[in-house]
Amino acid sequence: MDIVQASNLVKRYLVGEQQVTAIRNANFNIKQGSFVSFVGPSGSGKSTLLNMIGGLDKPSDGKLLINNTDISTLNRKQAAKFRGEHIGFIFQDFNLIPVLTVAENIEYPLLMVQNWPLAKRQQRVKTLMEAVGIAEQANKFPSQLSGGQKQRVAVARALASQAKLVLADEPTANLDHQTAFRIIDLMKQMRDDFGTTFIFSTHDNKIMNAAESLFILEDGEISEHRQTATEGERA
Ligand code: ADP
Ligand code: ADP
Repeated sequence: MDIVQASNLVKRYLVGEQQVTAIRNANFNIKQGSFVSFVGPSGSGKSTLLNMIGGLDKPSDGKLLINNTDISTLNRKQAAKFRGEHIGFIFQDFNLIPVLTVAENIEYPLLMVQNWPLAKRQQRVKTLMEAVGIAEQANKFPSQLSGGQKQRVAVARALASQAKLVLADEPTANLDHQTAFRIIDLMKQMRDDFGTTFIFSTHDNKIMNAAESLFILEDGEISEHRQTATEGERA
């Protein structure tokens, strides 16, 4: 089953009087359980595509179905509910809540979006912290963590809600290679364990080859869909 179906997708922004076409005419499908990456230089449209898939931004034209639902037809409240139930985000700047601890940040979607009971939340948070190797930092605040540790919290939070689709915008930017691959491996593990679909963007050649297939973006167009032959070389 395809969890993402995009046909003739277009996104234009108005910048002053000037119209910028961020996505020109994108056609692609992504299967449930895939591990794919959007690759391209800065400004090629990666974030715009991820934001549209995540329902944070509306297409200007064309059709985009997520889990067979056209999110752009939903009202704000319905769209927020849909995102909470189906989509996890990992943003480049992590977007952790500074006044909440590691454990509370991970618990947040379970409480606010899913409204899980306390005991179930605590169990799930514990499992996730152990899975991403951040359990020892449970009671620390984001400001007390390293970049790699913050990134692990962001991954755990995205996975907390058991979203079927996780979108990650440059999830390994600013991380050293070892940490970057640890994050990628963790995401892949979650895919293998839970069938989660991961779409991540990157302009890093080594990271992109960790994906099973790449959508290459050039100036707002998908110029190529390439299967990676093997797992990326990790030199
Ligand atoms: P990437 O993620 O590959 O760096 P983006 O999707 O951020 O690319 O940007 C694609 C193009 O769309 C760029 O020309 C960028 O300046 C433009 N763009 C992106 N977001 C906005 C916005 N909110 N308003 C105006 N222009 C935007
Ligand atoms: P930074 O983001 O500053 O590079 P790291 O994320 O690499 O920090 O982690 C800091 C320390 O924690 C390192 O010494 C690293 O070896 C250790 N570490 C990181 N992840 C794990 C893990 N999953 N299991 C055990 N030790 C870890």
